[in-house]
Amino acid sequence: MRRRGYRCPVIDLRSDTVTRPTPAMRRAMVDAEVGDDVFGEDPETTALEQEVAALLGHEAGLFTPSGSMANQLGLRLLVGPGEELLADVQAHVVRAELGAAAVFSGITTRTWASDRGRLVADAVRAIAEPNAGAYSVSTTAIAVENTHNFGGGTVQPVAEVRAVQEFAREHGIGLHLDGARLWNAHVASGTPFPDLASGFDTVSVCMSKGLGAPVGSVLVGSADRIAAARIWRKRYGGGMRQTGILAAGARYALHEHVDRLAEDHANARVLAAALDVDPESVDTNIVFAQVSDPDTFVAAAEAAGVRVMRLGRTTVRLVTHLDVSAEDAARAAEVLAALPR
Ligand SMILES: *Cc1c(COP(=O)(O)O)cnc(C)c1O
Repeated sequence: MRRRGYRCPVIDLRSDTVTRPTPAMRRAMVDAEVGDDVFGEDPETTALEQEVAALLGHEAGLFTPSGSMANQLGLRLLVGPGEELLADVQAHVVRAELGAAAVFSGITTRTWASDRGRLVADAVRAIAEPNAGAYSVSTTAIAVENTHNFGGGTVQPVAEVRAVQEFAREHGIGLHLDGARLWNAHVASGTPFPDLASGFDTVSVCMSKGLGAPVGSVLVGSADRIAAARIWRKRYGGGMRQTGILAAGARYALHEHVDRLAEDHANARVLAAALDVDPESVDTNIVFAQVSDPDTFVAAAEAAGVRVMRLGRTTVRLVTHLDVSAEDAARAAEVLAALPR
């Protein structure tokens, strides 16, 4: 089978969600044994859930159609209606899930400011209000994002994560990790998965970003929490049937595409250098470049065969992934460097 990317010369750096399943991944999907997952009878899905949970050092896992649903299931288990979630001001759960925590779970949110999304425990402690009494909103959960998407693929410092966890434990505050790109954090830092995921009550990971699976995320946590999340997933309309076709793609991605993320990180550094972006600001596969007029820059890049995304009044985002080769990155770097900024 020919890959569409080989016919189409456009280099798509808008997001690592644009990846398409490779021929080998598609074969794994075609060959998947399937059953009704709502009945708990889909073997590939059950295997994926168990594998991801074991890899991250948690008891159980739940396959979900999207990362947003995985995050929202985690949050609703940790925060009651009218209670408060704390998150980074640029967190995906705050900015990119369209108010889901408020709409579905009645959760109120406050945010701490950060530099590039990097976690600083003092910033969290400064705004937390556990047990606020009868007249103020009580903080009942904290969400951490690793890597931090709108921060620019930032890998969270382990010491700050531990400090937040210690504070949360002391005050009985729940902890959710939005680990959509935890894979990238692992590859960039060398920190073992269980160390990245331990100390959190719930953790979500995306199979459909840089890993290249077409659909799906996994939420992990304790067996009790995941059993509750399974009920809420069905209630949200996220109970799917022969999901083995999707889970097989996700398992293939998990087995074959984690280590190669290092190539994406190297390609991101090539792009950063071409756009005079501080290499210190590029931890993983995301590059933020400053331009005077993002719309003009995006249009000019598109005309030259490179897609990038506007992500702010003076910012464009470039994301490397499975469908961007080293040659593609070099060509994109050349094209983008020649554009007026
Ligand atoms: C992509 C992403 C998600 C999930 O997004 P979906 O499009 O709902 O799968 C969650 N968190 C972060 C940080 C992300 O980048």
